[in-house]
Amino acid sequence: MNPPVLTVNNLTKYYGQIRALNNISFNVPEGSVFGILGPNGSGKTTMLGIIMDILRATSGSFLFFGQASSATVRKQVGTLLETPNFYHYLSGEKNLRIAAEIKGKGHEQIPSVLRRVNLYERRQSKFSTYSLGMKQRLAIASCLLGDPKVLVFDEPTNGLDPVGIAEIRSLIKQLAGEGKTIIMASHLLDEVEKVCTHVAILKQGNLITSGHVDEVLVNEDIVEVSAKDITGLENALHLLNGYLSIKVDDRQIQLHY
Ligand code: ADP
Repeated sequence: MNPPVLTVNNLTKYYGQIRALNNISFNVPEGSVFGILGPNGSGKTTMLGIIMDILRATSGSFLFFGQASSATVRKQVGTLLETPNFYHYLSGEKNLRIAAEIKGKGHEQIPSVLRRVNLYERRQSKFSTYSLGMKQRLAIASCLLGDPKVLVFDEPTNGLDPVGIAEIRSLIKQLAGEGKTIIMASHLLDEVEKVCTHVAILKQGNLITSGHVDEVLVNEDIVEVSAKDITGLENALHLLNGYLSIKVDDRQIQLHY
């Protein structure tokens, strides 16, 4: 069996007095769609920032492919942590050419990347005419330049309309089918059911549980989520195998069915 794509060992992060992550450990298996799930403020962005070398952990370590972070390792990891600044008056293809220049990648892969995100037919349309889902697909196309083995996305469906959400989820599954490992932060519980094969659930900087979705969600009795984060209550009830703990205006309500 191949070593995990990412191993996180006892990561702790303080911002001054605020402890954003508390001794977190988990493994991301090769070929998984690994969701880092938790309500706002649970530490997801901090976690992604650390593994992308944007933030320094207070203590602990992480390895990609069993190796410490280096330029060689970084080349294998494509990231989408915030929406890139595309030019609205240029075509999708021109924007991708500029992204390739900035990243020091060749232009020859642009047609195949556009096909993979299903934008080839619309490559000459102005970015301003793209739907929200198409804009996000172009952002993912830019991550695919250089053909990295691992993709790291922060809330990839955030701010999208239902059509855009469906497009991005389907693209993520397609990329996983092509052998990519995808690590993504999400505050949406139904993202787990629709997309993720594995999950690490964070709450206030603590790891509640991690592992394969089937194991985690069967073994875990109670996962606390904020009610406003639940997009499909039925999904949540189904996922959590009969237990749901909801926080409403600071009151904790537990449902058991
Ligand atoms: P999430 O991505 O799950 O919303 P974050 O990683 O952004 O969580 O935040 C985790 C905790 O760390 C929160 O309590 C947040 O207020 C705090 N935090 C995040 N960034 C900073 C920062 N730059 N300075 C101080 N506190 C921060």
